[in-house]
Amino acid sequence: MSLDLSTLYLVATLVCGLLGGMLLYFGRQENIPALDWWGYAYLLGATAVASWALLGPMLGDTLALCLDAIGFVACGMMWNAARVFHGRTPNWPGLFLGPIAWVAAVMSLPVEASALRVTIGAAIVAAYAVLTASQLAAERRKAMRRRWPTMLVPLLHGAVLLLPILLADLLRPHDETFIGSIWVTVFAIELVLYAVGTVFVIFMLVSERTVRAHKAAASIDPLTGMFNRRGFSEATARMIEREAAAGRPVSVMIFDIDFFKSINDRFGHPAGDEVLKLFAVIVTNNLRITDLCGRIGGEEFAALLPCTMDEALHAAERVREAFETCGIAVDDAPVATTVSIGVASGPANTELDVLLAAADTALYQAKRGGRNRVVATAEEPLSLLDTRRKSAVGSDHPRQPVVVQRMVAMNEIGA
Ligand code: GH3
Ligand code: MG
Ligand code: MG
Repeated sequence: MSLDLSTLYLVATLVCGLLGGMLLYFGRQENIPALDWWGYAYLLGATAVASWALLGPMLGDTLALCLDAIGFVACGMMWNAARVFHGRTPNWPGLFLGPIAWVAAVMSLPVEASALRVTIGAAIVAAYAVLTASQLAAERRKAMRRRWPTMLVPLLHGAVLLLPILLADLLRPHDETFIGSIWVTVFAIELVLYAVGTVFVIFMLVSERTVRAHKAAASIDPLTGMFNRRGFSEATARMIEREAAAGRPVSVMIFDIDFFKSINDRFGHPAGDEVLKLFAVIVTNNLRITDLCGRIGGEEFAALLPCTMDEALHAAERVREAFETCGIAVDDAPVATTVSIGVASGPANTELDVLLAAADTALYQAKRGGRNRVVATAEEPLSLLDTRRKSAVGSDHPRQPVVVQRMVAMNEIGA
């Protein structure tokens, strides 16, 4: 089968131009700046290829050199698009280094050294391909297993461009026209495959990011920026699993702002919102970075700490005190802000729901005891598994009296 080079380049131009336009359109619609980089890279590449294909031998040396440089800028833009997509700044010196190296090589090499020029050109394209692949590999948030196409496409691009040069050197060493001719054909075919493959990768990355963003939005409370109930249970499930594997205890706190309805009634809903935001900051600032917290209801917050009851009680007391003394005022009128906190701890395998239920009971006691206090469950709640085991044992034996959890106020335990 003989391949007509002009047709190949025409197809490459049309495909690159079409995909470039599509990427720009999609980038504008979705407001993704990296897609602009990719889109313009495709359009520049299409312009360079179209000019080579249409004007070819008619191009003067200087114009041909400029078109080559534009082609290399397009390669550099593909790499920078990957950088921008991952939140990095464009690397301007790197973008122009390839084209400058090419111009310098062409101007300094003798006309006969066309094979060396082709090798240098292919090496520049391959270098940008490796940079793009390593940029994508550096993004480790996703499992590498699912990321392999993002690296494979640019790596193949670099390898395919270098291969004809190495092969030609093996098959017909020093035959410069042979090297040039197979390289040009391979380049045209590869360009189309690379353009299509890269768009596939781009859309894979964009869709992956969109899913991640939607997932995050569904887990975050927009008012405070904390986890909402769903996000809190998901994040805590992971922590509980990790702590259970290590055999460490976990503690849960539930915070309920006291007389919050009256704050709303007296100062208005927006002021109430500000108090909620302030409380979220106080909780976050007074817990450790390893602790998880979230807003699980209107004026109810919860936290999961990988620590014992004693440590949790001290942390809870810190939050209570900080909120009481935060000195919030609306229109110069001081607003009394207090919070009641229920704390429960359990051994490594205790489920979140069990801990939350126990902490909620302690919170109820704190409210009944006069509010603005920390109350802990005196007994560790049983995990669902242990509860089942205990009731199975209980059914074979005379029934034991149920032990009602004793509540201890902070001042009782001397904290
Ligand atoms: P207690 O000390 O017993 O907890 O009394 P309370 O007034 O804090 O409790 P109650 O459950 O009676 O009232 C909670 C209030 O929280 C009622 C609801 O209007 C308000 N609320 C819930 N979500 C929001 C919110 O997002 N913003 C504001 N400003 N208020 C909220
Ligand atoms: Mg409440
Ligand atoms: Mg309340």
